[in-house]
Amino acid sequence: MRIQKIISVVVALCWMGATNAQNVINLYSARHYPTDEALYSEFTKATGIAIQRVDADDAGILARLRTEGSSSPADVILLVDASRLWKAETEGLFLPVNSKVLEAAVPVHLRSKPNGQGEIAWFGMSTRARIVVYDKLKVDRQQVDAYEKLANPKLKGQLCIRSGSHPYNLSLFGAIHEHMGSAATENWLKGMVSNMARSPKGGDTDQIKSVASGECAVAVTNTYYLARMLRSNNAAEKSMAESLGVVFPNQGSWGTHVNVAGAAVARYSKNSAAAIKFLEYLVSPAAQNHFANGNNEWPVVKDLKFDNPALKAMSGGEFKSEVIPISAVGMNQIKVQQMLDRVGFK
Ligand code: FE
Repeated sequence: MRIQKIISVVVALCWMGATNAQNVINLYSARHYPTDEALYSEFTKATGIAIQRVDADDAGILARLRTEGSSSPADVILLVDASRLWKAETEGLFLPVNSKVLEAAVPVHLRSKPNGQGEIAWFGMSTRARIVVYDKLKVDRQQVDAYEKLANPKLKGQLCIRSGSHPYNLSLFGAIHEHMGSAATENWLKGMVSNMARSPKGGDTDQIKSVASGECAVAVTNTYYLARMLRSNNAAEKSMAESLGVVFPNQGSWGTHVNVAGAAVARYSKNSAAAIKFLEYLVSPAAQNHFANGNNEWPVVKDLKFDNPALKAMSGGEFKSEVIPISAVGMNQIKVQQMLDRVGFK
């Protein structure tokens, strides 16, 4: 009798363990934005599925997944750049999935190509544009309204940009390669190196501040860094951002380069049903609004109403973005890195 009781308690505990495992997903996230906390807690509130999070940078997450192999506890992976998503996909770190909800919500050019079974390895969840800011006293808008013009010798000694090898730049340059081809892209990179005010250093916010401080006249940045400054409680930062000219390049041609922050189910997820549920939650109007209002990114879901004054102010409401497959942008990164080495773009 007593043994039977013990067995039934053990069985009950095992069952509870199994149930709990169903109600937890392990999220490996490279999204370095504190405002995302609300995003995760709303999902848990709505579904009862808890999220255990591992935060690291993109390279750290990929390294961890490689080391853990098939024993990895990861269910969902969030990365913040097309070239990194592409790299993880080619290394087989993602589990391609079928989801009508995701396919209906995410435009074809903002997700990976389907495999032979029609499954998709990753989905863009939000976008950020890579734009140009400039000193209105030193530079005319039409001097910098296209990426190609950043290589014009007239801008000699005036350009600030972060490292060429940073994934945000690798993706931009990979996109330019799609638009202009190899020879023209390498020439363009060479021209930018001659125009630099200083060696590449710092992040995008540092480039914006360098224009405001007069160190350079032109800089390249992702939109959400500029929007963050425009909405800052720090008056000095806010007025720095407000003083600058802002251009969404190539409105007259192929459109401004946009990069994605994306999500995927982990290759060895033990709970892929819940992982897919989380990805589907990320394209819901509430989550998409969160990307727009919490972290100043553009939603991937079309015709979604959102109200972010900084995004509106800088873009004038709408802008033309390029529509090349973002997966092709990732694929070009090796070629682009070799060009950077050749032209001395650090
Ligand atoms: Fe970033």
